[in-house]
Amino acid sequence: MTEPTKTLCPYCGVGCGLDVLPPALPGKATNRDKQGNPIWQVRGDRNHPSSQGKVCVKGATVSEALDKDRLKYPMMRDSLNEPFQQVSWDEAFDRIVQQIQTVRVTQGPSGICMYGSGQFQTEDYYIAQKLLKGCLGTNNFDANSRLCMSSAVSGYIQSFGTDGPPCCYDDLEETDCAFLIGTNTAECHPIIFNRLRVYHKKNKSVKMIVVDPRCTQTAEAADLHLAIKPGTDIDLLNGIAHLLMRWGFFDSLFIDDCTKDFPEYAEVIRHYKPELVARKCGIRLDDLEKAARWWGESNRVLSLWSMGMNQSSEGTAKVRTLINLHLMTGNIGKPGAGPFSLTGQPNAMGGREAGGLAHILPGYRVVKNPQHRAEVEEFWGLEPGSISPNPGLTAWDMITGLEQNQVGLLWIAATNPAVSMPDLERTKAAYRKSPFTVYQDAYYPTETAAFAHVVLPAAQWGEKTGTMTNSERMVTLCPAFRSPLGEAKADWEIFAEVGRRLGFAEQFNFADSAAVRREFVQLTRNRPCDMTGITNETLSEFGPIQWPCSDSSKDEGVYNKRLYTNLRFNTPDGRAKFGAYHSKGLAEPPDPDYPFVLTTGRLYGQWHTQTRTGRIEKTVKMHPQPFIEIHPRDAAKLDINEGEIIEVRSRRGMGRFPAKITKGITPETVFVPMHWGSLWAELAEVNSLTHPESCPDSLQPELKACAVQLIPVKEI
Ligand code: SF4
Repeated sequence: MTEPTKTLCPYCGVGCGLDVLPPALPGKATNRDKQGNPIWQVRGDRNHPSSQGKVCVKGATVSEALDKDRLKYPMMRDSLNEPFQQVSWDEAFDRIVQQIQTVRVTQGPSGICMYGSGQFQTEDYYIAQKLLKGCLGTNNFDANSRLCMSSAVSGYIQSFGTDGPPCCYDDLEETDCAFLIGTNTAECHPIIFNRLRVYHKKNKSVKMIVVDPRCTQTAEAADLHLAIKPGTDIDLLNGIAHLLMRWGFFDSLFIDDCTKDFPEYAEVIRHYKPELVARKCGIRLDDLEKAARWWGESNRVLSLWSMGMNQSSEGTAKVRTLINLHLMTGNIGKPGAGPFSLTGQPNAMGGREAGGLAHILPGYRVVKNPQHRAEVEEFWGLEPGSISPNPGLTAWDMITGLEQNQVGLLWIAATNPAVSMPDLERTKAAYRKSPFTVYQDAYYPTETAAFAHVVLPAAQWGEKTGTMTNSERMVTLCPAFRSPLGEAKADWEIFAEVGRRLGFAEQFNFADSAAVRREFVQLTRNRPCDMTGITNETLSEFGPIQWPCSDSSKDEGVYNKRLYTNLRFNTPDGRAKFGAYHSKGLAEPPDPDYPFVLTTGRLYGQWHTQTRTGRIEKTVKMHPQPFIEIHPRDAAKLDINEGEIIEVRSRRGMGRFPAKITKGITPETVFVPMHWGSLWAELAEVNSLTHPESCPDSLQPELKACAVQLIPVKEI
């Protein structure tokens, strides 16, 4: 019997285990898609602890995009007006190395930037850090995770001393009260939502509260839906805290023994009188009181969040304000309780571990810390001072850097920022200005490839072996089950070859990706994310493993489903810190000229900018076109009927979308999904409208909200 390859779904941060079998099995008909093409068979891996055999439509159909529109060989051109010409890898590498050397001389290392992706495997991330931050001496590596979860990272660091989600998926089935805020889990993380939904249905006493301006599928399953106005999250959370204080629902023992800065926080929440909060949030006072009572009366409260909290100009403040509620009520470090961020990308967590953002280094180190830099320099065999003490350019900084002629080489890999970045017209203008852009991806064409001078074919899911970490810190080995298509190479191999050609032969001497991981995990030794016990060998032997797991704890069979169970945190004094924040609201609130708030989000069957799902028949059929959700009251005022086109204008751009009239959205707010770029539909890029105002701590842009005006197209 043919044994399946056990791997991980390459879409969302739930990280479902997959069994993959070849199209043709002995004695069975060949598995084919509707066009008759043989396709690899995919089913849920029943033994994967995170997903227990379940998969959603994206995971089930992922293999159908393995062969479609693939980039098979390197291509180059001198200017964006010319067509690409096929070249050899040697020619492509020579051209890139030559440009790196030129920029190092003319602009210094800070003229070199790389924008990577949570689609990378951890090994890709690690080698990119070694190349950029170590060998080239620039911290200008950032990833699309900046747009996804960097506020969660900074919130955890400021509250607990280091990054790292403290919870695990089993908590979904051990909680008394699930508090979901800024997350449409039913559509965006469907498999863990199913776990929660089944448990909630079976246990009538368990409460589910959902906070979202839209009545999503997630909200429909809740006992209480708080449809707050966009930008009022901190008001709501501080209002709940006010009531918890007033009613005595706080854990003074936990506050005294395990936390600091509570008095400053108490002074802030004193101002959040429930009547005022309810009015500002646009919800009923008794609903606010119900939410506070359910939280206060529950022994185990689990909160879940994702982009609705993170993609905000006060993202870190929102995350910390939510964590405050856990600290105030002692809801952390025990089963069924804790603040739990859900990552969007399949390996955004691996990126955090490997140092894949502009301000961090491998092993949960930060570039500003001299000891951390020295440890990494020594480990990489580099001269002291090789790593810059300055955080590098973030995703949006790279755009402004291009505008100001500070970037001489931009390298984009495994992501499609010409659709996903905010203020898209400005983003595209900056890309047009780039003197030299390398684009490395599995698919062609994409919207971003149009801005490249060199395109490099990357091996994708199933064609390279590596590891990925999901939202509950579970590391899974993802072995290759077929050869890379055409001349495609693994991302880490491409980075390593450039490193060797730049003269760093010793630093990039790896036989395979298992050797890369063996080296990387040594940099996590005695760090909060210690995974010295998680190598390809142990993953092959034991299956997926959660970190922290040192080599000694593995030998003793000690695993950690949850962090902070001893109620000591990673701060110097071991105490978690309250953060006291007043609500600032939206960076661009509605006004008479732009009276609506546009919010953006994701749909069940689509993934990001459709580079993969746009090439799969079933997922395209589920969501064939973009739309704008509008409340019936607003539609009537504008004389708009179902399906009619609405032109949406912001201060930055415009788009046109057919109306979907629904009471599921709060009045004066509209919703447009983020999946459509110019490749798939005309004038449907929602990020033409969004703005880049960012959280000052996480530097994550507020992709979730901007002010717009709506114009029925029939009136133009
Ligand atoms: Fe893949 Fe996420 Fe669906 Fe699981 S829930 S199958 S990880 S897309």
